[in-house]
Amino acid sequence: MTAPRPQRRVFIKSYGCQMNVYDSERMADVLAPLGYALSESPDTADLVVLNTCHIREKATEKVYSELGRIKAIKRERAAAGERMIIAVAGCVAQAEGAEIMRRQPAVDFVVGPQSYHRLPELIARAHRGVDELLAADFTPHEKFDALPSARGATGVTAFLSVQEGCDKFCTFCVVPYTRGAEYSRPSDAIEAEARTLTRGGVREITLLGQNVNAYQNDRGGGLAALIRRLAAIPGLARIRYTTSHPRDMDDALIAAHGEVSALMPYLHLPVQSGSDRILRAMNRGHTAESYLRLIERVRAARPDIALSGDFIVGFPGEREADFAATLALIREVSYAGAFSFKYSRRPGTPAAAMASRVDEAEKDERLVRLQALLEDQRRAFNAATVGRSAPVLFEKRGRHPGQIIGRSPYLQAVHCAGPDSLIGQIESIAITAASHNSLAGERRVMETA
Ligand code: SF4
Repeated sequence: MTAPRPQRRVFIKSYGCQMNVYDSERMADVLAPLGYALSESPDTADLVVLNTCHIREKATEKVYSELGRIKAIKRERAAAGERMIIAVAGCVAQAEGAEIMRRQPAVDFVVGPQSYHRLPELIARAHRGVDELLAADFTPHEKFDALPSARGATGVTAFLSVQEGCDKFCTFCVVPYTRGAEYSRPSDAIEAEARTLTRGGVREITLLGQNVNAYQNDRGGGLAALIRRLAAIPGLARIRYTTSHPRDMDDALIAAHGEVSALMPYLHLPVQSGSDRILRAMNRGHTAESYLRLIERVRAARPDIALSGDFIVGFPGEREADFAATLALIREVSYAGAFSFKYSRRPGTPAAAMASRVDEAEKDERLVRLQALLEDQRRAFNAATVGRSAPVLFEKRGRHPGQIIGRSPYLQAVHCAGPDSLIGQIESIAITAASHNSLAGERRVMETA
C-alpha cells in the first residue's frame, strides 16, 4: 500500500519536557496517514497543535499569548476562505480544558495526553463544527495500544516513552493530576519500537517517563530488566533514561549501571532540596542523607558516573538555613548538570495553599547563588575532559563546513572536524577545549587519563 500524498500541513509546537517532544512526534505519526505533513510555521498550517506544559505558571501564560497570535492567523485564513483548526494538547489541556475553551473560543478542541490516538476523530468533528473537550481521560494503555507502533526514525538519537504518570504526589507538582497514576507500557511493545528505531538508524535511545524508574516490567523486574533486554538489540549503542525518583532507584537498577555497558554513565536524579524539613513539606519521601547514600551506592557500582539534578528554591517555608543545606548537598554531590527553578505556585497542588511564602526578591537572590555554584561545577566537569579522549556519537553536521557534532556519554555536545560518514558512528575523540556549553575535539587517539 502506498502512503497517501500529504495535502495538508500541521504545525505542532511543544512546550516543556521531553515527554511532550515524544508525544508531539507520535501525534505527527497519527496525522501522517490523514495526509498531514509537518509545517515549520503556523502561517501555512491547516492544523495547529500546541502541546502544552503545566509545570510553571509562566508556561501556561505563554500558551495563551501564542493562542492569541494563532487566532489572528486563523482569522486571516478564514478571510481568504481557508479553514484552520486549532487544538490544544498536553498538560494544560488536561488541567484547564474548560478554561481554555472559555478563554479562547478560536480553539477547536482540547485533547489530554492520554487521548492523542483520537486526534483523527477530533479533527473530523472540528471540520463538522463540533467543539470538543477531551480533558479527563486517564487511559494510557488505550493510548499506547492505539498509537502507531512503527515510526520512522529521523536521526541518530530518539526518545521512547515507557512509562507515564506518577503516584508520588510531591506537593508542588501537577503531574499526578494531569498525567494520572503510574502506568508502565508492555515490554514487548517497547522492544518492538526500539528495534524499529534501531533499524532506521537510531543508535541511542532515551527511555522516557514522568517517573521512569518506577517502570514495572510485565515480564518481571523493573526498569533494569527492560534496559538489559533493550541492550541486546543489535546496533543500539547507548541507552539513557529520564526522569527518575530517588525512591525508585532499586538495587537492580544500580547494578545495571555497573554491568550494562550501553547504559550511559550519566544519571539525572532530582533531589529538589537539601533540607529535610523542606523535603518533608514537599512530600518527597526521602531525606538529604538517604539521597547522598544512594549516590554513594550508584558511584560504587559505576565510578565514572556523573550526576545531574533538579532544584527548587524558595519553596514555601524555605529559610536561609534550608537553602544553605541545599548548597551543602550540591557541594557534596558535585553535579555535571542541573535544572534549577524558583518555586512557582501551581493551583490545585497542596503547596499552593501553604503559608510562609518566600519573598520573590529572596527567591531571585537564592536562585542566583545556587546557579552560580552549579555553573562552577559544570564548568569544572567540562574542563576536566580536556586532554582526555571521549567516545562521541556523532549526530549531525555542524554550522561550519566540514564540522560534525556529537555527544559524549555525559551528553556534552562535542564539535569536531570530520566527514559526514561519521554521523551515526561512535569514535574516540581527543577533547581539546571546553566552553560553557560544549567541547571541541579532534580525531586523533590520545591516552585516556
Ligand atoms: S515524582 Fe516527579 S512527577 Fe511525581 S509528583 Fe514528584 S515531581 Fe511530580
